Amino acid sequence: ARPVVAIVGRPNVGKSTLFNRIAGRRIAIVEDTPGVTRDRIYAEGEWLNNYFTIIDTGGIEPDTSDVILSKMRSQAEIAIETADVILFIVDGKAGITSADREVANMLRKNHKNVILVCNKVDTHILPDTFYEFYELGLGDPIPISASQGLGTGDLLDEVIKRF
Ligand code: GDP
Ligand code: MG
Repeated sequence: ARPVVAIVGRPNVGKSTLFNRIAGRRIAIVEDTPGVTRDRIYAEGEWLNNYFTIIDTGGIEPDTSDVILSKMRSQAEIAIETADVILFIVDGKAGITSADREVANMLRKNHKNVILVCNKVDTHILPDTFYEFYELGLGDPIPISASQGLGTGDLLDEVIKRF
């Protein structure tokens, strides 16, 4: 079976933006089919002839913070059980939050399969917040801008090394 890559993290960090960028062209083809939802959770990804399934987690519905936290926990659990590689996304504009620490605590046991991704680094200069994320104990964060496409190639190089 294809390796499974799951994207986890608190709301608004850019999970779906990264999912769409990785799945990009393939999703666009599927969406030409009438009746296919735009809020896809699974897609096929490909990098340098390595094929994988990419999973977005987290819905689009607004929630209270309690509900968000319990959903994040269950998403992290599902990712740990089903994914070969977990992309844990944090927000380089916002800096570290208690929700990031909570998810990191769950993921640290599976450290070798987790890639810490610092999104919203839209220029080649690392923000001061970047260094805070070392506190999560998940190694070096990989800086990317999912919306600009910066660093996503380096990220995918790292992903396929873990298969
Ligand atoms: P999700 O809730 O984690 O799925 O986050 P979304 O992908 O829906 O993105 C949340 C917000 O962050 C949206 O307004 C995005 O346009 C914005 N965003 C996502 N990636 C980036 C990025 O790389 N840089 C910046 N500046 N904004 C981003
Ligand atoms: Mg989303």
